Amino acid sequence: MSKIAVIGVNHAGTAAINTILDNYSGHEVVGIDSNSNISFLGCGMALWIGKQISGPEGLFYSSKEKLEEKGALIHIETKVNSIDFDNKVIYAEDKNGTKLEEKYDKLILATGSLPIVPKLKGIDLENVQLVKLYQNAQDVIHKLQHKELKNIVVVGAGYIGVELAEAFKRMDKNVTLIDLMETSLSSYYDDEFTSLMDKNLSEHGINLAFGEKVLEFQGDKNVEKVITDKGSYDADMVIMAIGFRPNNELGKNSLKLFKNGAYIVDKHQETSMKDVYAIGDCATVYDNASQDLNYIALATNAVRSAIIAGHNACGNPLESVGVQGSNAISIFGFNMVSTGLTLKRAKALNFNAVYTEYEDLQKPAFMEHNNEKVKLKIVYDKSTRIILGAQMASRADISMGIHMFSLAIQEKVTIDKLKLLDIFFLPHFNQPFNFITMAALKAE
Ligand SMILES: Cc1cc2nc3c(=O)[nH]c(=O)nc-3n(C[C@H](O)[C@H](O)[C@H](O)COP(=O)(O)OP(=O)(O)OC[C@H]3O[C@@H](n4cnc5c(N)ncnc54)[C@H](O)[C@@H]3O)c2cc1C
Repeated sequence: MSKIAVIGVNHAGTAAINTILDNYSGHEVVGIDSNSNISFLGCGMALWIGKQISGPEGLFYSSKEKLEEKGALIHIETKVNSIDFDNKVIYAEDKNGTKLEEKYDKLILATGSLPIVPKLKGIDLENVQLVKLYQNAQDVIHKLQHKELKNIVVVGAGYIGVELAEAFKRMDKNVTLIDLMETSLSSYYDDEFTSLMDKNLSEHGINLAFGEKVLEFQGDKNVEKVITDKGSYDADMVIMAIGFRPNNELGKNSLKLFKNGAYIVDKHQETSMKDVYAIGDCATVYDNASQDLNYIALATNAVRSAIIAGHNACGNPLESVGVQGSNAISIFGFNMVSTGLTLKRAKALNFNAVYTEYEDLQKPAFMEHNNEKVKLKIVYDKSTRIILGAQMASRADISMGIHMFSLAIQEKVTIDKLKLLDIFFLPHFNQPFNFITMAALKAE
Protein backbone atom coordinates (compact mmCIF):
# COMPACT_ATOMS: atom_id res chain seq x y z
CA MET A 1 0.00 0.00 0.00
CA SER A 2 1.45 3.38 -0.92
CA LYS A 3 0.76 6.73 0.63
CA ILE A 4 -0.08 9.57 -1.78
CA ALA A 5 0.00 13.14 -0.49
CA VAL A 6 -1.68 15.97 -2.39
CA ILE A 7 -0.71 19.55 -1.52
CA GLY A 8 -3.41 22.02 -2.58
CA VAL A 9 -6.96 20.70 -2.73
CA ASN A 10 -8.72 23.08 -5.08
CA HIS A 11 -9.66 22.05 -8.66
CA ALA A 12 -6.51 20.10 -9.52
CA GLY A 13 -6.00 18.57 -6.07
CA THR A 14 -9.66 17.59 -5.73
CA ALA A 15 -9.68 15.96 -9.18
CA ALA A 16 -6.48 14.02 -8.41
CA ILE A 17 -7.90 12.73 -5.13
CA ASN A 18 -11.18 11.74 -6.79
CA THR A 19 -9.31 9.98 -9.62
CA ILE A 20 -7.30 7.93 -7.13
CA LEU A 21 -10.25 7.05 -4.88
CA ASP A 22 -12.65 6.31 -7.75
CA ASN A 23 -10.29 4.04 -9.66
CA TYR A 24 -7.92 2.36 -7.22
CA SER A 25 -8.13 0.79 -3.78
CA GLY A 26 -5.49 0.27 -1.17
CA HIS A 27 -3.82 3.68 -1.29
CA GLU A 28 -3.65 6.03 1.67
CA VAL A 29 -4.55 9.51 0.39
CA VAL A 30 -3.83 12.69 2.34
CA GLY A 31 -4.78 16.17 1.09
CA ILE A 32 -3.58 19.42 2.64
CA ASP A 33 -4.88 22.92 1.85
CA SER A 34 -4.28 26.25 3.55
CA ASN A 35 -7.70 27.64 2.62
CA SER A 36 -10.90 27.08 4.62
CA ASN A 37 -12.88 26.01 1.55
CA ILE A 38 -12.12 23.85 -1.45
CA SER A 39 -13.36 23.65 -5.06
CA PHE A 40 -14.49 27.30 -5.43
CA LEU A 41 -15.24 27.94 -9.11
CA GLY A 42 -13.63 31.31 -9.73
CA CYS A 43 -15.28 31.31 -13.16
CA GLY A 44 -18.56 32.05 -11.36
CA MET A 45 -17.13 35.03 -9.49
CA ALA A 46 -18.20 37.67 -12.03
CA LEU A 47 -21.66 36.09 -12.31
CA TRP A 48 -22.02 36.25 -8.53
CA ILE A 49 -20.74 39.85 -8.31
CA GLY A 50 -23.01 40.94 -11.19
CA LYS A 51 -25.99 39.16 -9.58
CA GLN A 52 -26.52 36.91 -12.60
CA ILE A 53 -26.67 33.97 -10.21
CA SER A 54 -28.50 34.00 -6.89
CA GLY A 55 -25.52 33.25 -4.67
CA PRO A 56 -22.20 31.46 -4.32
CA GLU A 57 -23.48 28.12 -2.98
CA GLY A 58 -23.50 26.39 -6.38
CA LEU A 59 -19.92 27.50 -7.03
CA PHE A 60 -18.61 24.70 -4.80
CA TYR A 61 -18.74 21.07 -5.89
CA SER A 62 -16.60 19.36 -3.26
CA SER A 63 -15.63 19.63 0.41
CA LYS A 64 -13.41 18.10 3.07
CA GLU A 65 -16.39 15.99 4.15
CA LYS A 66 -17.15 14.69 0.64
CA LEU A 67 -13.53 13.65 0.06
CA GLU A 68 -13.24 12.09 3.52
CA GLU A 69 -16.44 10.09 2.94
CA LYS A 70 -14.64 8.49 0.01
CA GLY A 71 -11.66 7.58 2.17
CA ALA A 72 -9.14 10.46 2.00
CA LEU A 73 -7.82 12.36 4.99
CA ILE A 74 -8.10 16.11 4.34
CA HIS A 75 -6.43 18.83 6.39
CA ILE A 76 -7.83 22.28 5.61
CA GLU A 77 -6.60 25.59 7.03
CA THR A 78 -3.23 23.87 7.13
CA LYS A 79 -0.28 25.37 5.31
CA VAL A 80 2.62 23.31 4.08
CA ASN A 81 5.77 25.24 4.96
CA SER A 82 8.40 22.94 3.48
CA ILE A 83 9.07 19.55 1.97
CA ASP A 84 12.06 17.31 2.59
CA PHE A 85 12.14 15.76 -0.90
CA ASP A 86 15.08 13.43 -0.04
CA ASN A 87 13.32 11.82 2.92
CA LYS A 88 9.79 12.31 1.52
CA VAL A 89 8.38 14.28 4.45
CA ILE A 90 5.96 17.24 4.40
CA TYR A 91 6.08 19.84 7.17
CA ALA A 92 2.85 21.78 7.73
CA GLU A 93 1.13 23.86 10.36
CA ASP A 94 -2.58 24.47 10.98
CA LYS A 95 -4.23 27.81 11.81
CA ASN A 96 -3.76 27.19 15.55
CA GLY A 97 -0.03 26.69 15.12
CA THR A 98 -0.20 22.91 15.55
CA LYS A 99 2.60 21.29 13.57
CA LEU A 100 1.93 18.40 11.24
CA GLU A 101 4.37 15.99 9.58
CA GLU A 102 3.25 13.69 6.78
CA LYS A 103 5.43 11.07 5.10
CA TYR A 104 4.61 10.10 1.54
CA ASP A 105 5.56 7.62 -1.16
CA LYS A 106 4.18 9.74 -4.01
CA LEU A 107 3.59 13.46 -3.91
CA ILE A 108 1.22 15.53 -6.06
CA LEU A 109 1.85 19.27 -6.00
CA ALA A 110 -1.37 21.19 -6.77
CA THR A 111 -0.50 24.53 -5.22
CA GLY A 112 -2.03 26.52 -8.08
CA SER A 113 -1.34 30.13 -8.87
CA LEU A 114 -1.22 33.52 -7.20
CA PRO A 115 -2.36 36.87 -8.58
CA ILE A 116 0.48 38.98 -9.99
CA VAL A 117 0.80 42.05 -7.77
CA PRO A 118 2.99 44.77 -9.31
CA LYS A 119 5.16 46.80 -6.96
CA LEU A 120 3.38 50.09 -7.61
CA LYS A 121 3.08 53.06 -5.29
CA GLY A 122 -0.24 52.88 -3.45
CA ILE A 123 -0.88 49.20 -4.17
CA ASP A 124 -1.53 48.62 -0.44
CA LEU A 125 -4.29 51.24 -0.23
CA GLU A 126 -7.68 50.06 1.01
CA ASN A 127 -10.05 48.91 -1.79
CA VAL A 128 -7.29 47.82 -4.15
CA GLN A 129 -8.62 44.31 -4.55
CA LEU A 130 -7.25 41.00 -5.82
CA VAL A 131 -9.59 38.46 -7.37
CA LYS A 132 -8.82 34.82 -6.91
CA LEU A 133 -10.40 33.32 -3.81
CA TYR A 134 -13.97 32.98 -2.57
CA GLN A 135 -12.96 35.37 0.21
CA ASN A 136 -11.82 37.98 -2.35
CA ALA A 137 -15.24 37.89 -4.04
CA GLN A 138 -17.01 38.11 -0.66
CA ASP A 139 -14.94 41.15 0.20
CA VAL A 140 -15.71 42.90 -3.11
CA ILE A 141 -19.45 42.16 -2.81
CA HIS A 142 -19.50 43.46 0.75
CA LYS A 143 -17.84 46.71 -0.32
CA LEU A 144 -20.17 47.12 -3.32
CA GLN A 145 -23.07 47.51 -0.91
CA HIS A 146 -21.78 50.98 0.04
CA LYS A 147 -23.83 53.34 -2.14
CA GLU A 148 -21.01 55.90 -2.30
CA LEU A 149 -18.76 53.37 -4.05
CA LYS A 150 -19.37 54.51 -7.64
CA ASN A 151 -16.15 54.48 -9.61
CA ILE A 152 -14.45 51.17 -10.23
CA VAL A 153 -11.22 50.78 -12.20
CA VAL A 154 -10.33 47.32 -13.44
CA VAL A 155 -6.66 46.89 -14.33
CA GLY A 156 -6.09 44.13 -16.88
CA ALA A 157 -8.39 43.40 -19.84
CA GLY A 158 -7.88 39.65 -20.04
CA TYR A 159 -10.79 37.29 -19.39
CA ILE A 160 -11.15 38.02 -15.73
CA GLY A 161 -10.86 41.80 -16.07
CA VAL A 162 -13.40 41.93 -18.90
CA GLU A 163 -15.86 39.67 -17.05
CA LEU A 164 -15.57 41.75 -13.90
CA ALA A 165 -15.96 45.02 -15.82
CA GLU A 166 -19.27 43.63 -17.12
CA ALA A 167 -20.32 42.56 -13.61
CA PHE A 168 -19.66 46.02 -12.14
CA LYS A 169 -21.51 47.69 -15.00
CA ARG A 170 -24.45 45.41 -14.30
CA MET A 171 -24.31 46.78 -10.75
CA ASP A 172 -24.62 50.27 -12.22
CA LYS A 173 -21.09 51.45 -11.42
CA ASN A 174 -18.87 53.75 -13.47
CA VAL A 175 -16.35 51.29 -14.84
CA THR A 176 -12.98 51.99 -16.43
CA LEU A 177 -11.00 49.11 -17.90
CA ILE A 178 -7.28 49.76 -18.27
CA ASP A 179 -4.75 47.68 -20.18
CA LEU A 180 -1.25 48.13 -21.45
CA MET A 181 -2.26 46.54 -24.76
CA GLU A 182 -4.32 48.39 -27.38
CA THR A 183 -7.27 45.99 -27.07
CA SER A 184 -8.97 43.62 -24.66
CA LEU A 185 -8.25 39.86 -24.81
CA SER A 186 -5.12 40.42 -26.89
CA SER A 187 -3.59 37.06 -25.99
CA TYR A 188 -6.49 35.02 -27.31
CA TYR A 189 -7.83 36.80 -30.41
CA ASP A 190 -6.67 38.75 -33.45
CA ASP A 191 -7.60 42.40 -33.76
CA GLU A 192 -10.74 41.98 -35.89
CA PHE A 193 -12.22 39.93 -33.01
CA THR A 194 -10.97 42.03 -30.12
CA SER A 195 -12.33 45.15 -31.82
CA LEU A 196 -15.80 43.56 -31.76
CA MET A 197 -15.49 42.90 -28.05
CA ASP A 198 -14.13 46.41 -27.40
CA LYS A 199 -17.11 47.89 -29.28
CA ASN A 200 -19.44 45.70 -27.22
CA LEU A 201 -17.84 46.92 -23.99
CA SER A 202 -17.95 50.58 -25.06
CA GLU A 203 -21.56 50.34 -26.19
CA HIS A 204 -22.47 49.10 -22.74
CA GLY A 205 -20.88 52.15 -21.15
CA ILE A 206 -17.52 50.76 -20.04
CA ASN A 207 -14.78 53.34 -20.37
CA LEU A 208 -11.83 51.76 -22.18
CA ALA A 209 -8.34 53.03 -21.41
CA PHE A 210 -6.18 50.79 -23.60
CA GLY A 211 -2.54 51.31 -24.45
CA GLU A 212 -2.05 52.85 -20.99
CA LYS A 213 0.39 51.89 -18.29
CA VAL A 214 -0.67 52.16 -14.66
CA LEU A 215 1.98 54.07 -12.72
CA GLU A 216 0.52 54.48 -9.25
CA PHE A 217 -2.55 54.53 -7.03
CA GLN A 218 -3.32 57.64 -5.00
CA GLY A 219 -5.46 58.10 -1.94
CA ASP A 220 -5.37 58.73 1.77
CA LYS A 221 -6.52 55.50 3.36
CA ASN A 222 -8.81 54.31 0.57
CA VAL A 223 -7.76 54.39 -3.05
CA GLU A 224 -9.07 57.52 -4.84
CA LYS A 225 -7.23 57.74 -8.15
CA VAL A 226 -5.38 55.57 -10.63
CA ILE A 227 -2.57 57.37 -12.42
CA THR A 228 -1.44 56.08 -15.81
CA ASP A 229 1.14 57.34 -18.29
CA LYS A 230 -1.71 59.01 -20.18
CA GLY A 231 -4.16 60.23 -17.56
CA SER A 232 -5.80 59.82 -14.20
CA TYR A 233 -9.03 58.01 -13.26
CA ASP A 234 -11.25 58.43 -10.20
CA ALA A 235 -11.47 55.16 -8.31
CA ASP A 236 -13.38 54.12 -5.20
CA MET A 237 -12.25 50.57 -5.89
CA VAL A 238 -9.52 49.07 -8.07
CA ILE A 239 -9.53 45.48 -9.23
CA MET A 240 -6.10 44.08 -10.08
CA ALA A 241 -6.52 41.47 -12.79
CA ILE A 242 -3.22 41.50 -14.63
CA GLY A 243 -2.62 37.76 -14.49
CA PHE A 244 -1.40 34.89 -12.37
CA ARG A 245 1.95 33.33 -11.61
CA PRO A 246 2.55 29.72 -10.62
CA ASN A 247 2.82 29.14 -6.88
CA ASN A 248 6.16 27.30 -6.81
CA GLU A 249 7.20 28.22 -3.28
CA LEU A 250 7.58 24.64 -2.05
CA GLY A 251 9.60 23.20 -4.92
CA LYS A 252 11.40 26.12 -6.53
CA ASN A 253 14.79 25.13 -5.13
CA SER A 254 14.45 21.43 -5.86
CA LEU A 255 12.51 21.01 -9.10
CA LYS A 256 13.16 22.17 -12.68
CA LEU A 257 11.22 25.31 -13.51
CA PHE A 258 9.75 26.81 -16.70
CA LYS A 259 10.67 30.42 -17.63
CA ASN A 260 7.74 31.78 -15.55
CA GLY A 261 8.51 29.53 -12.58
CA ALA A 262 5.98 26.73 -13.25
CA TYR A 263 7.11 23.19 -12.45
CA ILE A 264 8.18 21.51 -15.68
CA VAL A 265 6.35 18.22 -16.07
CA ASP A 266 6.52 15.38 -18.59
CA LYS A 267 3.58 13.66 -20.27
CA HIS A 268 2.89 11.76 -17.03
CA GLN A 269 2.75 15.03 -15.05
CA GLU A 270 5.95 13.97 -13.30
CA THR A 271 8.35 16.76 -12.36
CA SER A 272 12.13 16.57 -12.67
CA MET A 273 12.06 14.48 -9.45
CA LYS A 274 10.84 10.89 -9.45
CA ASP A 275 7.56 10.29 -7.58
CA VAL A 276 6.79 14.02 -7.47
CA TYR A 277 3.97 15.13 -9.77
CA ALA A 278 2.70 18.65 -10.44
CA ILE A 279 -0.74 19.54 -11.80
CA GLY A 280 -2.95 22.51 -12.54
CA ASP A 281 -1.83 26.12 -12.36
CA CYS A 282 1.56 25.33 -10.75
CA ALA A 283 2.69 23.17 -13.71
CA THR A 284 3.48 23.47 -17.41
CA VAL A 285 1.29 22.03 -20.14
CA TYR A 286 2.34 20.65 -23.51
CA ASP A 287 0.81 22.98 -26.11
CA ASN A 288 -0.07 21.09 -29.32
CA ALA A 289 -0.52 24.36 -31.22
CA SER A 290 2.92 25.83 -30.53
CA GLN A 291 4.37 22.31 -30.21
CA ASP A 292 6.20 23.30 -27.08
CA LEU A 293 5.87 23.57 -23.31
CA ASN A 294 3.60 26.40 -22.25
CA TYR A 295 1.84 27.85 -19.22
CA ILE A 296 -1.95 28.07 -19.57
CA ALA A 297 -3.71 28.53 -16.23
CA LEU A 298 -7.23 27.19 -16.73
CA ALA A 299 -9.50 25.01 -14.62
CA THR A 300 -9.95 22.69 -17.61
CA ASN A 301 -6.20 22.02 -17.76
CA ALA A 302 -6.12 21.64 -13.97
CA VAL A 303 -8.65 18.82 -13.85
CA ARG A 304 -7.28 16.99 -16.88
CA SER A 305 -3.70 17.11 -15.62
CA ALA A 306 -5.01 15.85 -12.27
CA ILE A 307 -6.57 12.78 -13.89
CA ILE A 308 -3.23 11.98 -15.55
CA ALA A 309 -1.26 12.41 -12.31
CA GLY A 310 -3.79 10.40 -10.28
CA HIS A 311 -3.43 7.38 -12.58
CA ASN A 312 0.35 7.65 -12.76
CA ALA A 313 0.74 8.00 -9.00
CA CYS A 314 -1.16 4.71 -8.73
CA GLY A 315 1.20 2.98 -11.15
CA ASN A 316 -0.90 3.27 -14.33
CA PRO A 317 1.25 5.06 -16.96
CA LEU A 318 -1.35 7.26 -18.65
CA GLU A 319 0.00 9.99 -20.98
CA SER A 320 -1.33 13.51 -21.45
CA VAL A 321 -2.46 14.37 -24.99
CA GLY A 322 -1.52 18.03 -24.51
CA VAL A 323 -3.75 21.09 -24.78
CA GLN A 324 -4.73 23.76 -27.27
CA GLY A 325 -5.60 26.51 -24.78
CA SER A 326 -9.28 26.42 -25.77
CA ASN A 327 -11.23 29.22 -24.14
CA ALA A 328 -14.44 31.22 -24.32
CA ILE A 329 -16.00 34.43 -23.11
CA SER A 330 -19.56 35.75 -23.06
CA ILE A 331 -20.08 39.45 -22.33
CA PHE A 332 -23.49 41.15 -22.46
CA GLY A 333 -24.66 38.26 -24.68
CA PHE A 334 -21.75 38.54 -27.14
CA ASN A 335 -19.79 35.29 -27.37
CA MET A 336 -16.23 34.66 -28.50
CA VAL A 337 -14.43 31.32 -28.47
CA SER A 338 -10.93 30.40 -29.57
CA THR A 339 -8.43 27.58 -29.59
CA GLY A 340 -4.79 27.24 -30.60
CA LEU A 341 -2.78 30.12 -32.05
CA THR A 342 -3.93 33.52 -33.26
CA LEU A 343 -2.41 34.69 -36.55
CA LYS A 344 -0.15 37.19 -34.77
CA ARG A 345 1.12 34.57 -32.30
CA ALA A 346 1.61 31.93 -35.01
CA LYS A 347 3.71 34.42 -37.00
CA ALA A 348 5.68 35.39 -33.90
CA LEU A 349 6.45 31.69 -33.40
CA ASN A 350 7.77 31.55 -36.99
CA PHE A 351 5.03 29.41 -38.46
CA ASN A 352 4.36 30.13 -42.13
CA ALA A 353 0.93 31.21 -40.95
CA VAL A 354 -1.96 32.32 -43.15
CA TYR A 355 -5.69 32.36 -42.53
CA THR A 356 -9.09 31.92 -44.06
CA GLU A 357 -12.24 33.54 -42.74
CA TYR A 358 -15.96 33.65 -43.29
CA GLU A 359 -18.85 35.66 -41.95
CA ASP A 360 -22.53 34.92 -42.51
CA LEU A 361 -25.83 34.44 -40.77
CA GLN A 362 -25.79 31.30 -38.71
CA LYS A 363 -29.02 29.97 -40.29
CA PRO A 364 -30.74 30.41 -43.70
CA ALA A 365 -32.28 33.90 -44.13
CA PHE A 366 -35.80 32.44 -44.03
CA MET A 367 -35.21 31.69 -40.34
CA GLU A 368 -36.33 35.12 -39.25
CA HIS A 369 -35.91 34.75 -35.50
CA ASN A 370 -32.79 34.21 -33.42
CA ASN A 371 -30.63 34.22 -36.49
CA GLU A 372 -27.33 35.91 -35.68
CA LYS A 373 -24.17 36.66 -37.63
CA VAL A 374 -21.26 34.28 -37.10
CA LYS A 375 -17.63 35.21 -37.74
CA LEU A 376 -14.98 32.51 -38.09
CA LYS A 377 -11.24 32.70 -38.72
CA ILE A 378 -9.06 29.64 -39.17
CA VAL A 379 -5.27 29.99 -38.95
CA TYR A 380 -3.16 27.36 -40.68
CA ASP A 381 0.37 26.75 -41.83
CA LYS A 382 0.80 27.47 -45.53
CA SER A 383 3.58 24.92 -45.93
CA THR A 384 2.20 21.95 -43.97
CA ARG A 385 -1.50 23.00 -44.32
CA ILE A 386 -1.95 22.00 -40.65
CA ILE A 387 -4.59 23.93 -38.70
CA LEU A 388 -2.98 26.05 -35.97
CA GLY A 389 -5.90 27.92 -34.47
CA ALA A 390 -9.49 29.10 -34.80
CA GLN A 391 -11.55 32.01 -33.48
CA MET A 392 -15.31 32.50 -33.60
CA ALA A 393 -17.65 35.29 -32.56
CA SER A 394 -21.42 35.59 -32.51
CA ARG A 395 -24.42 36.56 -30.43
CA ALA A 396 -25.58 32.99 -31.05
CA ASP A 397 -24.18 30.15 -28.99
CA ILE A 398 -21.58 28.82 -31.40
CA SER A 399 -19.38 27.52 -28.61
CA MET A 400 -19.58 23.82 -29.49
CA GLY A 401 -17.99 24.48 -32.90
CA ILE A 402 -14.64 25.32 -31.36
CA HIS A 403 -14.24 21.85 -29.84
CA MET A 404 -13.88 20.39 -33.32
CA PHE A 405 -11.00 22.79 -34.03
CA SER A 406 -9.41 21.85 -30.73
CA LEU A 407 -9.42 18.19 -31.80
CA ALA A 408 -8.20 19.18 -35.27
CA ILE A 409 -5.16 20.94 -33.77
CA GLN A 410 -4.47 18.08 -31.38
CA GLU A 411 -4.59 15.60 -34.27
CA LYS A 412 -2.71 17.85 -36.75
CA VAL A 413 -5.56 17.92 -39.28
CA THR A 414 -4.94 19.95 -42.44
CA ILE A 415 -7.24 22.74 -43.65
CA ASP A 416 -7.92 20.65 -46.79
CA LYS A 417 -9.43 17.81 -44.74
CA LEU A 418 -12.01 20.27 -43.46
CA LYS A 419 -13.25 21.34 -46.90
CA LEU A 420 -15.59 18.46 -47.61
CA LEU A 421 -16.08 17.27 -44.05
CA ASP A 422 -19.57 15.88 -43.45
CA ILE A 423 -21.23 18.68 -41.49
CA PHE A 424 -24.99 18.26 -41.07
CA PHE A 425 -27.53 20.89 -42.11
CA LEU A 426 -30.72 21.74 -40.26
CA PRO A 427 -32.27 25.22 -40.59
CA HIS A 428 -32.62 25.44 -36.81
CA PHE A 429 -28.84 25.33 -36.47
CA ASN A 430 -26.99 26.27 -39.66
CA GLN A 431 -26.94 26.70 -43.42
CA PRO A 432 -26.54 24.01 -46.12
CA PHE A 433 -23.09 25.44 -46.71
CA ASN A 434 -21.98 25.61 -43.12
CA PHE A 435 -19.76 28.56 -42.20
CA ILE A 436 -16.98 26.12 -41.33
CA THR A 437 -17.21 24.50 -44.77
CA MET A 438 -17.24 27.92 -46.43
CA ALA A 439 -14.18 29.15 -44.56
CA ALA A 440 -12.27 25.96 -45.39
CA LEU A 441 -13.27 26.11 -49.08
CA LYS A 442 -11.98 29.69 -49.23
CA ALA A 443 -8.50 28.64 -48.04
CA GLU A 444 -5.76 29.32 -50.60
C1 LIG B 1 -11.98 35.06 -11.38
C2 LIG B 1 -11.47 33.81 -12.09
C3 LIG B 1 -12.19 33.31 -13.17
C4 LIG B 1 -11.75 32.16 -13.83
N1 LIG B 1 -12.48 31.67 -14.88
C5 LIG B 1 -12.12 30.52 -15.47
C6 LIG B 1 -12.92 29.94 -16.49
O1 LIG B 1 -13.98 30.47 -16.87
N2 LIG B 1 -12.51 28.79 -17.07
C7 LIG B 1 -11.34 28.15 -16.67
O2 LIG B 1 -11.03 27.08 -17.22
N3 LIG B 1 -10.56 28.68 -15.70
C8 LIG B 1 -10.93 29.84 -15.09
N4 LIG B 1 -10.14 30.38 -14.10
C9 LIG B 1 -8.86 29.72 -13.77
C10 LIG B 1 -9.04 28.60 -12.77
O3 LIG B 1 -9.75 29.06 -11.65
C11 LIG B 1 -7.69 28.07 -12.37
O4 LIG B 1 -7.04 27.60 -13.52
C12 LIG B 1 -7.85 26.95 -11.36
O5 LIG B 1 -8.29 27.46 -10.15
C13 LIG B 1 -6.55 26.17 -11.15
O6 LIG B 1 -6.78 25.20 -10.20
P1 LIG B 1 -5.61 24.64 -9.29
O7 LIG B 1 -6.25 23.65 -8.37
O8 LIG B 1 -4.47 24.22 -10.12
O9 LIG B 1 -5.05 25.89 -8.49
P2 LIG B 1 -5.74 26.88 -7.45
O10 LIG B 1 -7.15 27.08 -7.75
O11 LIG B 1 -4.85 28.08 -7.39
O12 LIG B 1 -5.64 26.11 -6.06
C14 LIG B 1 -4.43 25.89 -5.40
C15 LIG B 1 -4.72 25.44 -3.98
O13 LIG B 1 -3.48 25.19 -3.32
C16 LIG B 1 -3.53 25.66 -1.98
N5 LIG B 1 -2.16 25.89 -1.52
C17 LIG B 1 -1.23 26.66 -2.13
N6 LIG B 1 -0.07 26.64 -1.42
C18 LIG B 1 -0.29 25.84 -0.35
C19 LIG B 1 0.50 25.44 0.76
N7 LIG B 1 1.79 25.83 0.90
N8 LIG B 1 -0.05 24.65 1.69
C20 LIG B 1 -1.34 24.23 1.57
N9 LIG B 1 -2.14 24.59 0.54
C21 LIG B 1 -1.61 25.37 -0.40
C22 LIG B 1 -4.40 26.93 -2.10
O14 LIG B 1 -4.99 27.24 -0.86
C23 LIG B 1 -5.43 26.52 -3.16
O15 LIG B 1 -6.61 25.99 -2.59
C24 LIG B 1 -10.56 31.51 -13.41
C25 LIG B 1 -9.84 32.03 -12.33
C26 LIG B 1 -10.29 33.15 -11.66
C27 LIG B 1 -9.51 33.68 -10.50
